[in-house]
Formats: sequence, C-alpha cells, structure tokens
Amino acid sequence: MLNSSLQQISDALRGKKISSVELTQLYLNRIATFNGELNAYITVNPDISLAQARAADTMLANGNAQPLTGIPIAQKDIFCAKGWRTTCGSKMLHNFISPYDAHVITQFNNAGAVNLGKTNMDEFAMGSSNETSYFGAVKNPWDRTRVPGGSSGGTATAVAARLCAAATGTDTGGSIRQPAALCGISGLKPTYGVVSRYGMIAFASSLDQAGPMARSAEDLSLLLNTMAGFDERDSTSLQREKEDYARDLAKPLNGLRIGIPKEFFAEGLGSDVAQAVEAAITEYKKLGAKKVDISLPNSRLSIPVYYVLAPAEASSNLSRFDGVRYGYRAPEYTDLADMYEKSRAQGFGAEVKRRILIGTYVLSHGYYDAYYLQAQKIRRLIAQDFVEAFKQCDVIMGPTSPTTAFKLGEKGDDPVQMYLSDIYTIAVNLAGLPGMSIPCGFGANNMPVGLQIIGNYFAEAQMLNVAHQYQQATDWHSRMPLLEGVRND
Ligand code: GLN
Repeated sequence: MLNSSLQQISDALRGKKISSVELTQLYLNRIATFNGELNAYITVNPDISLAQARAADTMLANGNAQPLTGIPIAQKDIFCAKGWRTTCGSKMLHNFISPYDAHVITQFNNAGAVNLGKTNMDEFAMGSSNETSYFGAVKNPWDRTRVPGGSSGGTATAVAARLCAAATGTDTGGSIRQPAALCGISGLKPTYGVVSRYGMIAFASSLDQAGPMARSAEDLSLLLNTMAGFDERDSTSLQREKEDYARDLAKPLNGLRIGIPKEFFAEGLGSDVAQAVEAAITEYKKLGAKKVDISLPNSRLSIPVYYVLAPAEASSNLSRFDGVRYGYRAPEYTDLADMYEKSRAQGFGAEVKRRILIGTYVLSHGYYDAYYLQAQKIRRLIAQDFVEAFKQCDVIMGPTSPTTAFKLGEKGDDPVQMYLSDIYTIAVNLAGLPGMSIPCGFGANNMPVGLQIIGNYFAEAQMLNVAHQYQQATDWHSRMPLLEGVRND
C-alpha cells in the first residue's frame, strides 16, 4: 500500500481489499514510529482521523465514494482546520484551535478524505529549510543530517517517508517546489487564483498559493481536482469552469517545445544538479520534445524584488497577531501597548521579525517610492519576460533549486545564502504562473534532484501531462528512502 498510487489505493478501498480505518491506522503507526526523529508532523489527532475514516468506510459501503474517499492526507499546518490545533509553525499560534475550516480543508472533507495530521513548516512559511519552525527542524528522510527544504518541509518529509498517502503545501516563493526537490517527491504550485486562500494563514497575499505534494504527477492531478475551484470568500479566487486535471495525462509529447532559460544554467548552479537536469531534458527529447533556447533577462532581479514585496505584505498581514483575541499573549505587561509589544516580541521568531522590520521599512513614508514602487515595476518586467518566452515554447524547464539538500544548521546565520535557494522558483510566483518540481535523479551525497517545469497561465493539465510522461519512462519518482537505514533503490 505504501508505494501504491492514489488511484490504486482508491481502487483497493472500493474493492474492500482494505478499509479506510485500517489504512489510517497503518499511517498513524508509521507516524508513531518515525515522527519522533523526523519531526514531520506538529499535530496528530488519531481520534478525529479515525472518526473520519469510519465515515469514509460508510460512504464506501454505500457506494457513494469519490476518488479520494478514505485516503489519509496530511495538511500543512498553515490551513485552519476546525477542532485542530493550527500553529503556522509559530509560538504565536502554539495554542490556537481553529473554529473553522479553510476552503482547501472543506474540499478534502467533502471528498471524504481523512485528515491525517498537520505538518511542520517554517514559521509563517518564511524559510527554505524548515529550521525557523517553533516546533523544531524537520529532518530529510534521505539523510537525517540534512534539511528537507522549506517552508513545506514537514509535508515533503511526510510524503517521501510514506508517513501519509499525499499532502498539501503552499508556495509563496518556492515552498512547494523546493522541498519537493530536496526530498525527491512531486509538487505543483498552481496558477495564482486557482486554489482559494480562504482559511490559509496569509504570508504575502499576492504571491501565496496552495497546491498538492505527492509521489507522482498522476497523484497530483487527483489532488488538484479536489483542491481547485472558485470560492467567493477569497476575492482573488478565479471564476472558471471546473477542470479535470488528469484529462491529458496520457497524451504523447511529440513536438512539445521546451524552453531552456540560459539564466537558469549560469553561475551558482551545482554541477551535480545541472547534470541530472540535462539528463532529464535528453530523456524528453527521446519522448519527442524539442529544446528551444530562451532568455528571462529580468529573472536575476527576482530575489531582491521578492524580498521587498513579500516582507511588505507580511508586515501588514502579521499585524493581526497582537495577543488580543487569540494566540500567544505575554504573561506579564503594564498596559495595552506593552502587551502588544511583549506578545509580539515573545511570540515571533527571529526570521519573522526580520521580515516585519524590512516590510515596515520599505512601506514607510519616504521609502515607499524608492523600494516598494520600484519593486512593483520590476515585478511587471519579470512577468513580461515569461509572456515573451511562451511565444517560443510550450513549457519551460530548468533546475528547481541550485543545490541538493544542505546540512542542518549550514545556512542558519546567513539569510542571503538561504534566500538564494529560491533563485529559480521566485520569478514564477511574481508572475503568478504555475510551476512544479519532479524528481529527476540524485546528485552529490546521493541526495535527490528536482526538475522544475513552468507552464503558461492555467496550463496545469499540460504540465501534469509533461511530468507524467517522464514518470512513465523513468522511475526516479518511485525511489524511496528506507527509514530503517537501508536504501530501497
Ligand atoms: N523561502 C522563501 C521565503 O522564505 C519562500 C517561502 C514560501 O514560498 N512560503 O520567503
């Protein structure tokens, strides 16, 4: 069961080969055995999960099951889920029990999926290594001395270590794709506006987007079918016709034009990563695709632009955490202002404070024009580069991250080095485009390498097709780290 696709699990549940309660218990047992060390989950709640599994078994028995009914799915702890502790990886929310469900959670509940638990993450999704979590670092199951990536690091480790059937993540600057790459799994960040942000704790609202993380492109398509769709409670949710994201999986790739941006293969890219990505492109040529050289000249500005815009939005979004209505409140204070100050000083970690300070600075009088407005203008130029590029190609490919998983603690005191992990992913968020990462080999120290696939707006079904065809021809995505210390590849 651990290596079966979601479709196979679904068939087994319908065929009564296994019940949802048995399957949920199997994963809960694995979590009990391995989570102590991996730290992929912040919260598990077996009573709620098993109650959902029993309800799913009733749906299955009555013959009104949907594709995900009875399947245990882990949720990044950024999604509010009714009755569940929802922390966003922060001391600020360490005791917050959500009174309501995020839209994404409602969609999974309506599909009859089982919520298996809440996964660890960088505090308020700010980070690339999962080390900023108040609940401690997550370990990469391929090598426990290394990071899983971030901010959806708990999800990536949970999927890679088979501590869930599949899971959710969010991606503001790369937080689905980079951890997917570093843990050897598949992840998809949809076009901005395809998945509702209602009930997803806000980091940088113009960039945040939820998406699925799983073992294969085929699994991602099933998850996205459940997650996507219009929701009037999110003003940026797009009103579009419902799509079947699995509809094109089987299409051959003859004639597919793959754009290769020269900026993604320049200085800073690890030679081991470059080699694996180039081998993947060679494989695509065998599948009938052809390579087109393209350029994204403004993408080199994406990190500085992001680190003006994302902190600006974060400083505004995080002003709601003030100790008044919910979350952490300092135990001792003199008056209201002192209560705000102490609660925020004690409740937020160092990286979150750094972002709030930067954001407040770039939005302040006198600096707004010099930083925030300039960054907005360059954001438009970055998006325009992609418009030009997609006149010459159907999809864009390159590395997801410049290196494989780095050591825990290696970049902790150098924020700029940490920020550079997202050099190939951030431009996609600034443009609002869909992007994904799929495993394409192993680099130095036998750590997984991710291939990034960037599509045009609303090209998710095509990207999943492109990824699925590769996964039919190769088996990188089905390799798994053996937790008992022996590799299974
Ligand atoms: N690593 C980036 C950051 O720290 C992106 C995080 C994300 O996508 N949530 O902001």
